[in-house]
Amino acid sequence: MTRTTESETTMPTINLQTDFCIASGACVLECPEVFELDDDGLVSQIDANPAAELWPKIRRAGAVCPVGVIEIIEDES
Ligand code: SF4
Repeated sequence: MTRTTESETTMPTINLQTDFCIASGACVLECPEVFELDDDGLVSQIDANPAAELWPKIRRAGAVCPVGVIEIIEDES
């Protein structure tokens, strides 16, 4: 039997296609813990390792982005 400890549990990762950001701010409204607009008005990720409980908000942020900047890559292992 294979056991999985918490430290072995992997989270999805976020890939931002920042070049396409139109600075709508929708993602920041959904999840300000992880996303903000930088000095250039483009999205940036301020939490490199979001806590597990933030992932529903992160997924909503990805869903509301009008131009598909926020790509969530699921762990396939
Ligand atoms: S919702 Fe999309 S377009 Fe708007 S600020 Fe966030 S990443 Fe940029």
